[in-house]
Amino acid sequence: SHRIMLGPLVAAVDQGTSSTRFLVFNSKTAELLSHHQVEIKQSFPKEGWVEEDPKEILQSVYECMERTCEKLTQLNIDISNIKAIGVTNQRETTLVWDKETGEPLYNAIVWLDLRTQSTVERLINKTPGRNKNHLKHKTGLPISTYFSAVKLRWLMDNVDEVREAVVSHRAMFGTVDSWLIWCLTGGKSGGVHCTDVTNASRTMLFNIHTLDWDPELCKYFGIPMEILPRVRSSSEIYGLMKSGALSGIPISGCLGDQSAALVGQMCFQDGQAKNTYGTGCFLLRNTGAKPVMSDHGLLTTVAYKLGRDQPACYALEGSVAIAGAVVRWLQDNLGIIESHEELEKLAASVGTSYGCYFVPAFSGLYAPYWEPSARGIICGLTQFTNKRHLAFAALEAVCFQTREILDAMNQDSGIPLTQLQVDGGMTSNRLLMQLQADILCIPVVKPSMPETTALGAAMAAGAAEGVSVWSLSPEDLSEVTSEKFEPQINPEESEFRYARWKKAVQKSMNWET
Ligand code: ADP
Repeated sequence: SHRIMLGPLVAAVDQGTSSTRFLVFNSKTAELLSHHQVEIKQSFPKEGWVEEDPKEILQSVYECMERTCEKLTQLNIDISNIKAIGVTNQRETTLVWDKETGEPLYNAIVWLDLRTQSTVERLINKTPGRNKNHLKHKTGLPISTYFSAVKLRWLMDNVDEVREAVVSHRAMFGTVDSWLIWCLTGGKSGGVHCTDVTNASRTMLFNIHTLDWDPELCKYFGIPMEILPRVRSSSEIYGLMKSGALSGIPISGCLGDQSAALVGQMCFQDGQAKNTYGTGCFLLRNTGAKPVMSDHGLLTTVAYKLGRDQPACYALEGSVAIAGAVVRWLQDNLGIIESHEELEKLAASVGTSYGCYFVPAFSGLYAPYWEPSARGIICGLTQFTNKRHLAFAALEAVCFQTREILDAMNQDSGIPLTQLQVDGGMTSNRLLMQLQADILCIPVVKPSMPETTALGAAMAAGAAEGVSVWSLSPEDLSEVTSEKFEPQINPEESEFRYARWKKAVQKSMNWET
C-alpha cells in the first residue's frame, strides 16, 4: 500500500492574503499528500483600509492543521512521519501584540492598505529633492504605503493600546510569520519571537546588505528596536510546535510567500524567474549573491538564505498590487459574477474586451510606477460594452501589468526572459494563461503541482540543520511536469493592445487633474 512507499514527510503553513492552507508533502517525491484550506475574511473599515483579524488567522492555521491530519489518518498515513513544518506568509502585513497577555492590540494591517498615504507623502516631501528612493540604498525599496515600517508607525501614533504597550515594554511587532511562529511555539508561555531575512527585508527597517535591523532606519521611522523580532535564516529550527496533534515537530522553515514560490519553482540560478498570480501578482528574478538595484521601478529584496551558514541570495521583484483581487471585486462589489469560474466563462465567450481597458489601481499603482494616488479606471466603453467585455478586460489587466514588470526586468538585467514560469491561485484560469502568453509574446509555463509556495517553505523546513530529510537539489525531486502556453496572436496585435493599456494607465494616474 501507499504506506510502504512513504519517506519522511514535510509540511507547510501557507498563510496568504485570501486564505490559509496547510499542506503535507512526501519528501522523496515532492508529491502533495493532503491539504486543507480556509478562507480569510478581509475587512474594509474605511476607504483604502484593509484589515484582517490576527486571531482568525491563527485559528485558521490550527483548523487547517487539524483537518489535514484527519485526512492523512483517513489515507492510512501516520502523521508521526511529519518531520518538519515550514511557514510561508503574506508579506508586509503588520501586527502588534502584547507579550504578557498574548493578545493582538489591533487588527493586522494588510499590505494593500492605503491609510498611510499621507504619512508617506510627508516622508517623501522631507527627503532631498522629493526622492521616494531616499532609503533604497539600504532597503532596496521605495518609500511607499506597501511596507511595514509606515504601518507600524501608524499603529504607534493612532492606537492607544499599542502606544501604551510600547511604553511599558510589552509590545511585540511582527509580520504574519512572526505572529504565527510565536503563537505556535507557545505564545505568552515561551513563544519564539523571530522572523526570517526575506520577511524582514519587506519592513523597510532592515538593511539588506548587513542582513540586520538598521538602527538608522529604526530611528528614521521612530521604531524602538526592542519590539522587533530576532532575524534568522530561512532554514533553521526556530522552535517546536507546542500543542495539538503536531506537538513537538520542529518549525524549521520560514519564507515570505514570494520567496517561497521562487524556491518551490527551483529558481536557484542567477537569472531564473517566476511570476505568482494571487491577490496581487509578483515577478521575482534571482540575481544570485549580489543585490542589484533597479533603474526601472523594481524592488531589490532578499530571495532566501537557506541555512545559518549559507549566503543570502537576492532578487529583483516587480510587485503588482491587484491581480486576483480584481476578481473578488467584480464578485463582491459589483456582483456581476458569482465565482471566478463564471468570470472565465464570460470572458471566454467574447474573447475580446472590445476596446475596453480596466486599470485596477485600487491601492494606487505599485511597480514600476509607485504612485499611491493613482485610482482605478475603466475606459473605452461604448453602448456595445457588456459585462463579458468587462470580465475580459479584468483578466487582460493582470496580463498587461505583468508585461510592464517583465519589460522593466528585461531592461534592468539586459537579458530578456525567453519564457515565464508561473504559479498561484489564478493560474487555474486557462484563458488567463493563454492571454498572458499572447501579451508577453513568450511561452508561459505552469507546473502541474500548483502549490509551489507551500512546497518552497516545506523544502526549506526539511533541509534545515538538525532535520535534514530533504536536500535542496532539484535532481532529488521527481520530474516536474508542466504545461506550456504558446503565444497565439501576432506581435503587432499584442503591441497595439499594450499601447492602449499604457494610455489607460496614464489616465489612472492623472484623472484628477
Ligand atoms: P493569495 O496567496 O494572495 O491568498 P491565491 O494564490 O490563493 O492568493 O489566489 C487567490 C486569488 O486568485 C483570489 O483573489 C481569487 O479571486 C483568484 N483566483 C483563483 N482562481 C481563479 C481563477 N480561476 N480565475 C480568476 N481568478 C482566480
